[in-house]
Amino acid sequence: MKKFFMLLLAGLMAVSVAACSTKPTEEKIYTAGTYTATAAGFGGDVTVTLTVSDTAITAVEIVGAQETEAIGGAALETLAAAIKDANSVEVDVVSGATVTSNAVLAAAKKACDQAMGVAPSKTALTDGTYTATAAGYSWTGMMTGEVKIENGAIASITITEEHDSDTGEIAKTALDLLPGRIVANQSLATDAISGATVTSNGIKDIVGQAIEMAGGKKTEWMDEVAKETDTVKLEGYDVVVVGLGGSGMLSYMAAADAGATVFGIETAAKLGGNSTTTTGPMLLGPISDAYADVNFADKDEVYDVWIDYVGSEEKADIIKEAVYNNDTHIKYYVDNFDFEFAGMILSFVRPQWSQFWTSYVAENGVRNIFGPNKTNQYVRAMDKAVAMNEKNDYMLELTAEELIFDGETAVGVKAVAYDGTTYEVYGDSIILATGGYVGNAEMCEEHWGRTLNTVAQTTSDGTGINMGISAGGATYMLGVDPMIHIQQIPNMIKNDDLTADQKAILSALALVKGEMSTNVYGEALDLTLAEAQVPNYMYYNIYSEAELNDMKTNGLPENVSRATSHFMSQGGVMTAGAPVTDMDTILTVGMEYGNVLKADSIKDLAAQIGCDEATLTATLGEDTTYYAVICTGYTYGSVGGLDVDVNMNVLRADGTPIANLFAAGADCQGVENVEGKIYTPWGGQAQSWTFTSGYLAGNAAAAYGLSK
Ligand SMILES: Cc1cc2nc3c(=O)[nH]c(=O)nc-3n(C[C@H](O)[C@H](O)[C@H](O)COP(=O)(O)OP(=O)(O)OC[C@H]3O[C@@H](n4cnc5c(N)ncnc54)[C@H](O)[C@@H]3O)c2cc1C
Repeated sequence: MKKFFMLLLAGLMAVSVAACSTKPTEEKIYTAGTYTATAAGFGGDVTVTLTVSDTAITAVEIVGAQETEAIGGAALETLAAAIKDANSVEVDVVSGATVTSNAVLAAAKKACDQAMGVAPSKTALTDGTYTATAAGYSWTGMMTGEVKIENGAIASITITEEHDSDTGEIAKTALDLLPGRIVANQSLATDAISGATVTSNGIKDIVGQAIEMAGGKKTEWMDEVAKETDTVKLEGYDVVVVGLGGSGMLSYMAAADAGATVFGIETAAKLGGNSTTTTGPMLLGPISDAYADVNFADKDEVYDVWIDYVGSEEKADIIKEAVYNNDTHIKYYVDNFDFEFAGMILSFVRPQWSQFWTSYVAENGVRNIFGPNKTNQYVRAMDKAVAMNEKNDYMLELTAEELIFDGETAVGVKAVAYDGTTYEVYGDSIILATGGYVGNAEMCEEHWGRTLNTVAQTTSDGTGINMGISAGGATYMLGVDPMIHIQQIPNMIKNDDLTADQKAILSALALVKGEMSTNVYGEALDLTLAEAQVPNYMYYNIYSEAELNDMKTNGLPENVSRATSHFMSQGGVMTAGAPVTDMDTILTVGMEYGNVLKADSIKDLAAQIGCDEATLTATLGEDTTYYAVICTGYTYGSVGGLDVDVNMNVLRADGTPIANLFAAGADCQGVENVEGKIYTPWGGQAQSWTFTSGYLAGNAAAAYGLSK
C-alpha cells in the first residue's frame, strides 16, 4: 500500500529536483547500480551501500560492526529503512545515536553523490562563533564547546566545559590533540584519538552542530584525510614491548634496568592503559616501613585457596610467583622506580583477609580509590627507564598490527602511526602486553557469548593475543569470565533527556536486587551470586505498573533508594519516600534508550525478554502490565590469554617455549585463573599480576635479548 502511494506520488511530482532528497521521479537522476561509501562512526567505520535504479533508491545496506549493539546497531536498521522509505539521504538522526547517525548520513550522501555522478560540494558557512553541547565520556555532564567559523572554514575549536573527572587524563588526550587536527584537516573524518574515542566523538559532534548552526551540512565536512604512506625501520633493540599499559611499562622498566635496549609501542595518546585508572594491587607483604603494622593475609593460605580455586597444579609455579613473590616484585618497583602506594583494602570475598590489597598514591599526593589517575607515577618511572640507555625510546599513537617474521621466528613488530606512517621495529625479544581483548567484538562474542559494556579502554582488542597465536603460541583459559565489578542500565543517558535525579532513579530501579529480579531465562534470580556469574551478565528488575504508580505518590521504597552503582553515579540524588511524580518521564525515556521494557502481559514480557512464558509466569504470578528495567555488567576487561611459563615465555600447544616471545598482563592472565568461575575473586589480583608478569617478562626478555 505504501509503495503504491509513493509511486503514485512520484508520478504526480515528476519534476526534476535535487536527487537523494526526493520522492522518486520519472526523470533519470542516477546511474543505476550499487554505490558504497564509508564514514567514521562511533567505534569504527560505518559503510553504506545504496542500490539505485535510474530514478530511486531501491535498497539500502548499512554495516557498522563496531557500533554499540543496542543504540548504534538499532540506529543502522532504522536509518536504512528511513532512507529507503524517504528515497532520500536527508532523514532525521536517531535519538541517542547521533554519532552513528551522522556517520551513516555522511556515507549515504557520498554514495548518493557517486550515484548521481556529482562532485561532493559544501554549502557555504556564515562566519561567527557557535556554541554547542554534546555527550562525552562522562556520565555526569555534557561537554560544551565553541567553534569559530572564519572565511567559511573551521578556524578554532575550544572545549569550554567537560566532566570527565574519573578518566580525565584519557579525555585530555582528545581535548589536547583533536581540535587542532580537525582544524588542520577541515574534516570531521579526522581519526578519533586512539584510546579516547568517546570524547573524540563528542568533540566532532560539537563541531558538526556548529557547522549546521552556521548554515552548513555536517555530512559535507567528511572529506577523507590523507595519510602518509612511507615506512620507517627502527632496528637493533634487545627488547620490543607492545602496549605500554601497566604490565608493558613494568616489563619495559625491568628490561631496561637489566641492561637491555628497549623500544615501546603504545596505540593510545598517553601511557598507562587501564592500569592507571585502577585502585591498586593485591599486596601480601610489606613494601616499605609504612606497612609494618599491616595484618597481611597468610601466603600459604592464599596459595592453597588459589590452587583450590583453579582446581589444578598445572600452573602452580606461576601461582607461587604471584603469591610468594608478590611483595618482592612490587617492592622492586617501589625501590627502583619510586612507585608509591598507601593503605590497605579488604578482600572482596574473604573478610578474614581484611588487609588484602593496597592503593596507588594518585597525582594529587593522596591515596585514591577512584580518580584522579595514577599515570604520573608511571610517567616518572618510564622517564627513568628510558634514561637508562640512550637508545631506549617509545612512541605513542603507534598501533602494533602484526609480528614481522624471518622464517618462523618473530623478529619485529609492524605498527602504524596515527598519521599513516608504517614503523617496522626490530628486536631480539618481543613482549606482548596489549591488555586482552575487551575491545574485540568478535572475540567477546566467541568467549562470552556477547559483547559487554565496559569501563575499560577498548584499545585492547586482542592484538597481542592474536600476534602470539600467529607465532605458534597457544592460549590458556582464553574464555575466563570477564572482570565485572560494576552494574548499570545498559545504555547510559548522558544528555539532558533526563535530569540527574531522574537518571539516579532509573539506575536505582535497575540496580536494586529485589524480589522481582529475574535472569534472562525468566527465573527468579538469586542475587547473592557474584555479578559475573549472572547468565548473559544481565538481569531484569520487574515492576508491576501498580508498584510504579505507588512510587508516584509514596516515593521510592527504602531498598530502591539505597541502590548505588559503585563509582558510576550520575550525580543525582534520591530520597526514600519522596513522591516520584515524574515516573512516567523516567520510564518513557528509559524505554526510548532501550533500558526499560513495557509489556501488557506476561506473555508479551516473555516475548520481549526472549524467555519461556511458563517460567516467567511462575516467577511473576499475576498477569498484569509490567515494566522490566534492565541491569547489565560493565566489565573491567578480559582475563584469559596466551599460555606462558613462569618466565612469561609464550608456549606452543606442545608446551615448548617460543624462545624470544613473551607476554604480560591481561594478554596472559588466564594462567592464574580458570574457566567457568568468576576470575580470581579476592581483589587486586589483576594489578598484582601486572607487577609479577611485568617483572618476570621484562627480566626474561632482557636476558634473551642480551644473549643474542
Ligand atoms: C576502571 C578500572 C578499574 C580497575 N581497578 C582495578 C583494581 O583496583 N585492581 C586490579 O587488580 N585490577 C583493576 N582493574 C583491572 C586491571 O586494570 C587490568 O586487568 C590491568 O590494568 C591489565 O593490565 P595490562 O597491562 O594487561 O593492560 P593495560 O594497562 O590496559 O595496558 C594495555 C595497553 O596496551 C595498549 N594496546 C592495546 N593494543 C595495542 C596495539 N595494537 N598497539 C599498541 N598498544 C596497544 C593499550 O592502549 C593499553 O595502553 C581495573 C580496570 C578498570 C578498567
